Amino acid sequence: MALEGAGDTSLLLGQGDVPPIHEVNSAGSSPFLLTCDHYGRLIPRVLGDLGLAADKLTRHIAWDIGIAGVADALSRHLDAHLIAQRYSRLVIDCNRPPTVPSSIPRISEATTISGNEGLARDAILARRQAIFDPYHRRIDEVIDARLRDQRPTVLVSLHSFTPVYAGIARPWHVGTLYHRDTRLPPLLLKLLRAEPELVVGDNEPYAVSDETDYTIPVHGEARGLMNSGIEIRQDLIAGPAGRSEWAERLARVLGEIEIMLRAQRLV
Ligand SMILES: [Zn+2]
Repeated sequence: MALEGAGDTSLLLGQGDVPPIHEVNSAGSSPFLLTCDHYGRLIPRVLGDLGLAADKLTRHIAWDIGIAGVADALSRHLDAHLIAQRYSRLVIDCNRPPTVPSSIPRISEATTISGNEGLARDAILARRQAIFDPYHRRIDEVIDARLRDQRPTVLVSLHSFTPVYAGIARPWHVGTLYHRDTRLPPLLLKLLRAEPELVVGDNEPYAVSDETDYTIPVHGEARGLMNSGIEIRQDLIAGPAGRSEWAERLARVLGEIEIMLRAQRLV
């Protein structure tokens, strides 16, 4: 495991590493702005494998399994701008305030991340400056431009969750995650619950908070945008058929919501 140079921002992402930001449909016409904080599971080459066996690096601890395919397809279906982040949450979690310990986790579920232990200040800063900051700066810029152009903007943050956590099975197929927005989440809950045979979590399996989340509080709530997270259980989107099905379902639901919001002149 090579950690040399990890403290130098210019060396954290070198030749052979792709940029952190992945975008689809940057000129999309939809009011929905899609984000995906845990889209990818790449690790900068200079960080090696973070001390983890290969099978750990494909599990939920490294990324949101299945959500990349759903996000890309949903962006195309809705003609919506998607901004996603390609590096593993084990390098730096783009949905945590960078000041909290879980930003660069030393333990995730029951797995110790040895490559994250005892990091020097400049190594922590390098991860933030190379990955976290550009991703969130890009979301900021896009929201700035949309507001300047008076384009309606509804933030939807896409995630997936593991079906069993700490030995407890989670019954939900999908959940909405929100905190302060009272406009979008009730519509999402109503329409998802109208889908046949879906078990829908209301702020399950997680609720959003300022301490445990970043994208919704900072880009949604603080900017005054309607917003919600959507969490899909990862086993439902592990294969291409499930990803297509969920992208089509969410496109239909969000399409209906857009019509409702337009009728209320909210977008
Ligand atoms: Zn996630």
